[in-house]
Amino acid sequence: MANAFYDFAGQLRQLEQDGLYRRRRVVDGPQGVSVNTDGRELINFCSNDYLGLANHPQVIAAFKAGVDRYGAGSGSAHLICGHSSAHHALEEELAAFTGRERALLFSTGYMANLGVISALLGRSDTVLEDRLNHASLLDGGLLSRARFQRYRHADIEDLRAKLSSAVGKALVVSDGVFSMDGDLAPLPAMADLAEQHHAGLLIDDAHGFGVLGKNGGGIVEHFALTQDEVPILIGTLGKAFGTFGAFVAGSEDLIEMLIQKARSYVFTTALPAAAAEATRTSLRLLQAETWRREQLQNLIRRFRQGARQQGLQLMDSFTAIQPILIGDSGQAMAASRCLREQGFWVSAIRPPTVPAGSARLRITFAADHTEQQVDALLDALGRVLS
Ligand SMILES: *Cc1c(COP(=O)(O)O)cnc(C)c1O
Repeated sequence: MANAFYDFAGQLRQLEQDGLYRRRRVVDGPQGVSVNTDGRELINFCSNDYLGLANHPQVIAAFKAGVDRYGAGSGSAHLICGHSSAHHALEEELAAFTGRERALLFSTGYMANLGVISALLGRSDTVLEDRLNHASLLDGGLLSRARFQRYRHADIEDLRAKLSSAVGKALVVSDGVFSMDGDLAPLPAMADLAEQHHAGLLIDDAHGFGVLGKNGGGIVEHFALTQDEVPILIGTLGKAFGTFGAFVAGSEDLIEMLIQKARSYVFTTALPAAAAEATRTSLRLLQAETWRREQLQNLIRRFRQGARQQGLQLMDSFTAIQPILIGDSGQAMAASRCLREQGFWVSAIRPPTVPAGSARLRITFAADHTEQQVDALLDALGRVLS
């Protein structure tokens, strides 16, 4: 007897027809600029491991030493008995790194965003979100049950208008570096505006940390903005840090408030202490090895210059995220497939990750790509997109 609840075939067929079906590729071996998938070696232009730390020998050694000292699992939530000295030391180091009073570790960036927004807002408040915010920021806003307002992408005037009519407490929420576009939030103006309107400001700099700023301090270092100007700062550790986890940085009281109220902090197991130990090493490398950022910027410049010469449509980005707008989801998929046949892994990003009609190739660079690899990608893009 068929149970209609489980009749997913029609929906799946529709996704396939709309070019929106998602498939995973199995990777055999570590992350890097060259990865082994489906028995083939591909040059990887879709990872967020921007500094090449995910497979760094010192980071791996720290992870292993962490396992030896702390074991495999952390046993419980931070508030029960899972908060190790490795977690604690990492929090102190992240606070110093970001120039904030304190930092609090979360298991993932997704959970940090859900937990922080829903802890700080309630039904009678307003959350203001950039249209192109990451899904986890949008979901955090929805979970909070606050009145939900989206403003036009990076549009200060639209934000000003919506802040003026906000009810209750207002929280402005934005990506720092936009994850699918690579451009920056107009942060100095947003900080002024939030202050004028006595609103909160939360910036998720998942793609800025490690990449922007002389010391890798991300968008707040890039614009030299203090804790007073950007009071709620979120970072993730699975991207440029090359490991796993996330953190929130801000005032002593903010962090204490989150420890009490953020449900995705309270009701979840602490990430393995070994992951925190690995992150402590990547934090050290990320700050000390400025050549990684310089090399990354060289590659980005080289790519943009070459792409312009070929007449490719670039976006307004100087970060490691360099999308090429295609528009149609099917065409973006086809371009990604052709690139794969030529030995390059570039992902096609489709709705709902990006707005309808704006499917794109999302090309990302890492410090350990070579100039030859960038040139070879440009050649392949020329062949595939012309
Ligand atoms: C990747 C990402 C997240 C999620 O972080 P995870 O640690 O992978 O869960 C949150 N925000 C933005 C902007 C991201 O790009």
